[in-house]
Formats: sequence, C-alpha cells, structure tokens
Amino acid sequence: MKYAFQKIERKWQRIWTEKKIYKVKDIFKRPKFYCLDMFPYPSGAGLHVGHLRGYIATDVISRMKMMQGFNVLHPMGWDAFGLPAENYALQHKIHPEIAVRRNIKNFKKQLSKIGFTYDWEREINTTDPNYYKWTQWIFLQLFKAGLVYESFEPINWCPSCKTGLANEDLEKGRCERCGSRVEKRPLRQWVIKITKYADRLLKDLKYLSWPEHIIKMQKDWIGKSEGVEFEMKVFKGNEELKEKIRVFTTRIDTVFGMTYVVLAPENKIIENLKLQIKNWKEIEKYRKEVEAKLAEEREKEKTGIKVEGILAENPFNKEKVPIFVSEYVLADYATGSIMGVPAHDKRDFEFAKKFNLPIKKVIEGGQKERECYEGEGILVNSGEFSGLNSTQAKEKMAQWLKERKIGGKK
Ligand SMILES: [Zn+2]
Repeated sequence: MKYAFQKIERKWQRIWTEKKIYKVKDIFKRPKFYCLDMFPYPSGAGLHVGHLRGYIATDVISRMKMMQGFNVLHPMGWDAFGLPAENYALQHKIHPEIAVRRNIKNFKKQLSKIGFTYDWEREINTTDPNYYKWTQWIFLQLFKAGLVYESFEPINWCPSCKTGLANEDLEKGRCERCGSRVEKRPLRQWVIKITKYADRLLKDLKYLSWPEHIIKMQKDWIGKSEGVEFEMKVFKGNEELKEKIRVFTTRIDTVFGMTYVVLAPENKIIENLKLQIKNWKEIEKYRKEVEAKLAEEREKEKTGIKVEGILAENPFNKEKVPIFVSEYVLADYATGSIMGVPAHDKRDFEFAKKFNLPIKKVIEGGQKERECYEGEGILVNSGEFSGLNSTQAKEKMAQWLKERKIGGKK
C-alpha cells in the first residue's frame, strides 16, 4: 500500500484549519506552556531546511505538552525589519512594504504545508505599527531609566550586504552570508547598558540547562569586566591641554607601574589632539593601515607608533609617560585606551621590550628582576598604597579616584 501523502495531508490540514484545533484559548485552569521560536526573517528566497530543523523540534515539544494537558502557546511571526529588507527592495526596485508583504505570504504558505500547531490568529509582524509601538514604548522606558545611550561604537560591517554583523555571525573574519571580508566601522547607534545587570545575568545562568558553548556565548554577550576607569591629563611640555585620556583597567593595583599609555588607533581623542601631535602624518598613515586589519590579526601583532609632542600624566604619582597608538588596543574594549604596565601584563611586557620602555615592578610576586608577573600580591613602590595587598589596593585606589572626581569603578 502506498501512502498518498499529498491527498491525506491536504485533507487533514484542511480539517485542522476549519475546526481551528490549534486556536489558543485563554484558559486559566490548565497549566501554561510557552514555546517561542526565533521568528524567521522573510527573505525573497523562501524557507530553507534550517528553518524547519528548528521549528519541527519546537513543534514536537509543543504537541507533547498539549497531550500532557498544558495550554500551549506556540506563536509564529516575522522578524521583518532591517537592512536586508531595504537591500532586497533596492535590488528589486520595489517598496520594502510590498516586498515584505509578498515574502510573508510565501513563507506562510510554505509553513502551512508542514502542519505546524501555530495559532495564526496570534501571528506577529515586527513591521506592523500595532506591534512596534510596543517595542518603541519599551525603548522609551529604558531611556527614561537611563539605561540606553547614544554612542559611536565600532561594529563589524559587511560592505557587500551593507549590514552590521555580530561577532557570532563571522566566519574567520568574513561575513557568514556572503563571504566578504568584514570591516570595523564606527557607527552612531544606541547602546543598552546590560552591564548594569551583569551580576544578576551571570548568576542566573546556572538555572539554564544549556550546552556549555551556548552558556559561554551568553557570558561573552553579558560582557562584564570588573574594573576601574580614570582620566589622565595630557601635557605639551608644561602646558596642560584640555583633552583628557580615559583609561580602563581591571588592575588598578598596578597603576604605579605604568610606564606608557596606549590608544586604539580609532580613538577619537587622537583627532582632537591632532594640532599638538608632531608626527601627525605618520600616525594618520598607521591608522589607515590598521583599519584594514581584522581584530584577531591586530591582537597577535604588536606594531605601534609613539605619539610625539605630548605626554599623559599618571594621577597617582604625577609621572608623565609617553603615549603610543597601537593596534593591540581595540577601540571597542572599554575606553579604547589602556595604561601600559609591562611588569604585570604579558602583552604590555612584550610591547615594552619591543619599544625599549621601562619595566617597573609594583607587585611583589617573587619574580626576578625585569620579569613579568601577572598575579596579585603585595604592593611595592606604590606610594601610600605600598604594603596593601591587591584586593585592598583595588578598593582604596577606586575610592581615591572617586574622591578626586577623576574616576571610579566601572
Ligand atoms: Zn555579507
């Protein structure tokens, strides 16, 4: 006997639709179960097997829960905003609204052939004003609470797709979709301060029974980096300039060992100091070279250029240290500038050796002279903070900066 799937499936799907058997009612007596998929982006190409791979799995779970007596909500919708829609419209010379509507129609037709348990009366479309008025409302609440701010953040930019990509969307520095080499570009955008909730987000990861590599991704996204940010005055000879360099460090306890400062080539302060910099042409050329490189390449190599004509002042001991521009500082790491402490940071150590910079020991860890020690320990050569251990010093130094209104914990 042959299974006439075309006839049989069509018949039952028609009956399911007529009887509305997947209509979700607001029943409060039964236990609830919410099963949420990532909504597809309705492209012109239609569904691909990757969509079904995920959607069938969640549908199996939804059906099981229904049979176990749960009131299951398993909605479907369209994540239809964004540059892909705009690019598609430009390419095909049609209005994005029309293109999106057409693509959704096709997606829906394709999905209905599979026989999913979706309640289509609860369909969601992110480009529907009735939907996005709520995303806008949420944004406004975040804004009022001071949890969003505008910033120029460097993003991964695919020049061919004309879109920004998350680090997870890259394959060896190339765009996952089209294989183009991805550039770093500063882009005006809104940033949400999830770091404010980093502690709680990290702590609650333990309640998730997710694979280890997914948990790791979440941790990277939450992106908590406990440290201190502080500002350094900039001098041209004895003249204090109005620009200040903001430095972020997770090891403020080593601040007396600072023998130089490094700025990311993209750091905007460099442009503001342009007139004070003697070797501006050279710096400009270097910045262009670095721009074309990928983040991984940059962190491996340690090329750099000394900024001639200006110095930065360590607020703790008033020592003036040279300023470098180097690719090993990434603009999207905190402030885009770091303090160079070669005695207690391996990367700084290598950089200092290359440029013949002083190595000044400030943490006692039993290390030999001119050796790098990254661990914590007792502070030496650190003025009033000498004799404290790293943990105590971190607290006291953050406090010291806060009292002088030039920095604090971040
Ligand atoms: Zn691309």
